[in-house]
Order: sequence, then C-alpha cells, then structure tokens
Amino acid sequence: MIILSLNNHFVMDAEAIVIRIKTPSGDMDSSVDFPSLLNFNDLLAAIRDVMPEATVTAFEYEDEVGDRITVRSDDELKAMLSYYCNTMNEQRMNGLLPDPLQIFPRGTDMFFFHHFLKKVLRLAFCNVPCFFISSCSLKKSSAELKRILTNGQINAQDIHYQEQLGHGNGGTVYKAYHVLGKRVLAVKVIPLDITVELQKQIMSELEILYKCDSPYIITFFSAFFVENRISICTEFMDGGSLDVYKRIPEHVLGRIAVAVVKGLTYLWSLKILHRDVKPSNMLVNTRGQVKLCDFGVSTQLVNSIAKTYVGTNAYMAPERISGEQYGIHADVWSVGISFMEPLQLLQCIVDEDPPVPPVGQFSEKFDHFVTQCMRRHPKERPAPNNLMDHAFIVQYNDGNAEVVSMWVCRCLEERRAQLGHV
Ligand code: ATP
Ligand code: MG
Repeated sequence: MIILSLNNHFVMDAEAIVIRIKTPSGDMDSSVDFPSLLNFNDLLAAIRDVMPEATVTAFEYEDEVGDRITVRSDDELKAMLSYYCNTMNEQRMNGLLPDPLQIFPRGTDMFFFHHFLKKVLRLAFCNVPCFFISSCSLKKSSAELKRILTNGQINAQDIHYQEQLGHGNGGTVYKAYHVLGKRVLAVKVIPLDITVELQKQIMSELEILYKCDSPYIITFFSAFFVENRISICTEFMDGGSLDVYKRIPEHVLGRIAVAVVKGLTYLWSLKILHRDVKPSNMLVNTRGQVKLCDFGVSTQLVNSIAKTYVGTNAYMAPERISGEQYGIHADVWSVGISFMEPLQLLQCIVDEDPPVPPVGQFSEKFDHFVTQCMRRHPKERPAPNNLMDHAFIVQYNDGNAEVVSMWVCRCLEERRAQLGHV
C-alpha cells in the first residue's frame, strides 16, 4: 500500500477509489479515500516512490476501447477521474464490482524504456513474467472488446437502457450499458414502419459506418432492427451536444470549429455529405474531444425518417430549403450557421440576407469565417479544401484538447451544482 498525500482539491463526488499502478515488476494497488483532493504531482510522486529507478514524467490510462490517454496536469487528472467515476457508477448500476483505475507510468527518456525492457527480459527468463502476462491479457481484452463492439454483435438483450439523453425528430437517444462489452453506449432508437427489404437496404447502407475511423467522427458500434424499430449503437459522449451549452468562449469555439471542419473533411473524403450539421449533432466529452454524429450515410434511412419529419431545419442552406440541388457547400453553410448566436438564427429566412455575427463580440477572423461560410451562393462559400486554411481555423488548429476538456468539465460541474448535486 502506498499513501498519497492530498493537497489541492476540486469538486467531485467524495468516494474511495482504488488506483492500480502498472509497473514493470507488477501491479501496485492503492486506495485513495478522497479522490476529489488528489492532484497530479502527488500521484506522480507516489508513482516515483514505487518506481525509483525510472524517470516518470506522466502516466496514461485506457479508455473504453483500450486507447491510451496521457495525463500530465491537474486538469487531465481531473478528466481521468471524472471518466473513471462515470465508468465506476455504470458498473455499480449494473451490479458489477468496479474495476480499479489502472494507470501506466510513462517516462520521457530511453532509460525508462531500457529499464523496462531489462525487467521484462529478466522476468521472462528467470521468473513467471507476471506483469507481461497481465499486460498482454489486458491488450487482448480490449482488442476483444473492440471486436465484440465492432462486429455488429450487440443485440437487444445485452443492452440495459438507463436514462433518456434526448429526443429529436427521428427518434430517441438513450444512454445504455452494453453488458458483454462492459461499456456505456448511446443508443438511438428510431421507429420505422418499413418492409423487411427496406430494413435490409438500410443495414447494408450503414455498413460504411464500420469503416469510418476518425477522431472527429462518433464511433459506430452496431445497428439492429427489433420489430419496427432500428437501434443505432454509438460511442457515448459524456459532455453531450453543443446545443445545450450557452455562450461558448471564442478560444473554445475555435478548437471546436477545427474538429468540425476536420470531421467534415474526413466524411467528404469518403464521398459522404453530412446533411445535418448543427449544434445538436456536434458532441463533446470531458477528454476535450469533439465529434460529429448523425450524418446521412443511408439514403433509405434518411428518406424513411423524412416521411415522418415535420418542419424545416434552421441550419439548412437556402438552396436546400428552396428544394434546389445541393452538395458539399450546403454542409459549409450549416457550419457557419451552427456557430452563430441562436438569436441570429431567427433572422435566417430564405428571402432575407444571411445573418451576420453580432458586432464586436467575436474576433474579425471568426466573423469572416462565419460570413464566408454563409454566402448565399454555394460557389462563393469556401471550398471544402480551403476551409482548413482559413485564418480562424489555422489560429486554433493547435491540437490543444485541454482547452475544450477544461471547459466541458467546468460546464458539467456548474450544471451539477445548479441541480444541487455538488
Ligand atoms: P434531430 O432529430 O433533428 O437530428 P437532435 O440531434 O437534437 O435532433 P437526436 O439526434 O435524436 O436529436 O439526439 C437527441 C439528443 O441526444 C442530442 O441533442 C444529444 O444531446 C443527445 N445525444 C445524441 N447522441 C449522443 C451521444 N453519442 N452521446 C451523448 N449524447 C448524445
Ligand atoms: Mg442528432
């Protein structure tokens, strides 16, 4: 057992957690009574205590699909704890004993790596290579998890529905727990009264989603029909969609815009038009990731939903509203309008001039980006391959996910506090 000294603090549910430090010579479990008081330096000091020979400067944890996330600061630690607490709560709610929070120390220099290798070899030749076995099985289990989740093997019985996340024109989105894969999902359930033939067509059109692999696009796991409802299982984003956030500061909005443009550029490269770019289809999480969802990959699904769809969409380009042919530039319009204040949206009627951002509230670069995206004539809007070169996007294309992560964490905390759950 090691004792972690606890100085700094931030708001989180006070509950003991077990941190498992994965070291070359084995696992080190440590119980932390007040995780909300834990800070990065204390945890790093504790790791150095158990690995005095190594130069540890950071550590990593694994997300639901086994990808490693690095922690180098208090804010990243906070994001990790918040992610872990959510996972722990999910496991409890499903009657499971929470797994410890596994962290993987990381060094900057080769000494660490050599030392690590030496230990592995020594263990492999002299002893039972316990750490090696456990790390292999870990990798295997996350690979297995990915396989289960990406092979379309999710079926209705293995999904435990939890809360309703929202309701759109097409269907209802639930937070759910996939028992086999031991992970949280977002499941969109859409009632569709269609023939079995059309169901098959939709399923085959959705196939392309298995191939979508971009950090800016929501991960698709599986889809299945039960009676007249299709359930589409995707990655759950704990920050929800952008439409519920008020007044996003420009330095955050900038990073979000970069991710949106990158996500769209990726879809366009696969010849997929998004067709429904709007804040409720831009999702964020406490790790600072921004991902697009609900793009129109299945024509049949879009058509089937459209039959029950009422009303117009305020984010649609004028050429779409007036029923003309449209292409990629219609997505570009929707990017522009998504980043405008909701008030301005009300002015957006086909016959009027496109809305402009409120004077003096944002930088010139931002105003220019938005107004260019919202030029009435599609060809006058920035060409998709020029979007990344716009000064506003260039300015914020620095890969700084921490800015978004901190902002999402703060907003979620504020929301929790307002609801009286501090
Ligand atoms: P529309 O039906 O017009 O597209 P919408 O996007 O608001 O409207 P849904 O797509 O049904 O409707 O989504 C409802 C809500 O569910 C969203 O606003 C979002 O807050 C939440 N949501 C959707 N997908 C996820 C997800 N993967 N993770 C977390 N929350 C999600
Ligand atoms: Mg949506």
